[in-house]
Amino acid sequence: MPNTDKKIIIAIDGFSSCGKSTFAKAIAARLGYIFIDTGAMYRAVTLYAAEHGAIRSGMVDEEKVVELLDQISIDFRFNPSRGASDIYVDGTLVEGKIRTIEISNCVSAVSSIAEVRSKLVAMQQAMGRSKGVVMDGRDIGTVVFPDAELKIFMTADPKVRAERRYQELQAKGDKVSFDEVYDNVVKRDRADMSRAISPLRQADDAIVLDNSHMSVDEQMAWFMDRFAEALNK
Ligand code: C5P
Repeated sequence: MPNTDKKIIIAIDGFSSCGKSTFAKAIAARLGYIFIDTGAMYRAVTLYAAEHGAIRSGMVDEEKVVELLDQISIDFRFNPSRGASDIYVDGTLVEGKIRTIEISNCVSAVSSIAEVRSKLVAMQQAMGRSKGVVMDGRDIGTVVFPDAELKIFMTADPKVRAERRYQELQAKGDKVSFDEVYDNVVKRDRADMSRAISPLRQADDAIVLDNSHMSVDEQMAWFMDRFAEALNK
């Protein structure tokens, strides 16, 4: 039996639309841990930048984004009906606005700005200080918590990932084509892996989970074995 009194940090990194957040949220609910979706934080900054004139026709004005950074206030508030925290910018709920294709198309450019990363990484480190967190993103196991006790690197076939994201957007009534979603997934992977600061990469001590052909229950069973191993280390 794992020692469940011991709280650890669980870092989940990986490619776009792998189901990282769904997986991380389910793990947090199962363990009674706090779930932190760091992608939502980069998306929130992107939305704020778009709404304050720092993104025009899809072009990101880096200097303007940096100028805006000091005035952005981001916080998470637990939403019992979702069983997870919603993200707020300046006290306004933005969950519904941050996952559109327009924001997805600009978020990699915004997240490659050094000042954006240092602000958000510092916030993430503060949120994980007391442990008992499941944090998902691109650089959690490499930069935010290099000493995390359990690191998982998620991947899946890009076509499978694009199909999942496409179905999600369709369900929300977003009129977007499969090709547009696929294109975004592939471009974001490339941008996230090739940026100069904190590129997406698998930490040396991360365990790979390829969930192309795994159900949610199978992923959870796989995870619980890894969790028990991490607690007993
Ligand atoms: O996880 P999600 O797909 O919502 O993340 C949106 C984008 O935010 C990613 O494509 C990436 O550019 C950026 N991101 C990041 N570092 C993180 C989490 C997300 O650069 N830790």
